[in-house]
Amino acid sequence: TGAFLEVRNLSVKFPTDDGVVAAVNGMDFTLERGQTLGIVGESGSGKSVTSQALMGLLKGTSAQVTGEAIFQGRDLVTLPESGMRRLRGRNIGMIFQDPLSALHPFYTVGHQIAEAYLVHNKATKKQARAAAVDMLGRVGIPSPDMRFDEYPHHFSGGMRQRAMIAMALICEPELLIADEPTTALDVTVQAQILDLMSELQQETNSALILITHDLGVVAEVCDNVLVMYGGQCVESGPVDEIFYDTRHPYTLGLLKSMPTLTTKSGRLNPIPGQPPSLLALPQGCIFSARCEHAALAGDGVCASQRPQFTSEDGHGTRCHLGLPQILSIRNSR
Ligand code: SF4
Ligand code: MG
Repeated sequence: TGAFLEVRNLSVKFPTDDGVVAAVNGMDFTLERGQTLGIVGESGSGKSVTSQALMGLLKGTSAQVTGEAIFQGRDLVTLPESGMRRLRGRNIGMIFQDPLSALHPFYTVGHQIAEAYLVHNKATKKQARAAAVDMLGRVGIPSPDMRFDEYPHHFSGGMRQRAMIAMALICEPELLIADEPTTALDVTVQAQILDLMSELQQETNSALILITHDLGVVAEVCDNVLVMYGGQCVESGPVDEIFYDTRHPYTLGLLKSMPTLTTKSGRLNPIPGQPPSLLALPQGCIFSARCEHAALAGDGVCASQRPQFTSEDGHGTRCHLGLPQILSIRNSR
């Protein structure tokens, strides 16, 4: 028997007038029940497109999705939309960046959450209302019993975000994919929502994919981390190893750009340069144009050869440098 979710060589290409955009290029990962996987990277690195492919949201578009995503024996890549529709909600839930796309403007917020509950539970209307009110309270909506009967446009952006999270969580999906779920919320509410997601995840032994550019959030809740760059996984492993035994120059750059006590003025140290064009990925390492350490690998190998992803004890990296070289880079910081 395989993993709960096993993704193999997942790629997504978008044909455009300017050529083919290679948004996701050969992603491999597995996820077990009860685990949280953080997918991190800058915007445009392919994080959201990966989640859209897993949710089947690219079906019926011009996107070309290849590879496999085996979820409990079913391949989400080839599953028709009708099958996907049956999985969405109870089996696979998603929290989007944009709450308006998830909430219907013509129904009250409470009604929509109660309906989501009723789809998956044998319950009376009264019980569904009680469950929805309870969940609205748990995501931090004040006076949930009164807010239940309000429409989405009565809610502020932050409140809508919480309502959408409540709607996803009340279905108790076995796999929850959350794409920047708390980005729009203030830090206190963000922490509260992340705690709630972890709590419900433990209660239901579900799996969580958390997509974020915020390494602080990753450190807080994730078991494993996958770092994306240019549509590829450049490093993946247990969260502690990614932070304390970092093996890829891009991850090192990301960690350096995190706000710390010394840069709490808000000044970050972003990695200089731009991500590669997904219309024409470089022949060599996709990070080579921005990597400070390419010379260390010697012979211009970084510019001419794409490094393979190599993994040891569950910690993998895609770089021509050997471990001793990476260690010397880390020690020189
Ligand atoms: Fe840098 Fe070369 Fe490693 Fe790419 S392969 S991350 S360019 S050292
Ligand atoms: Mg995104």
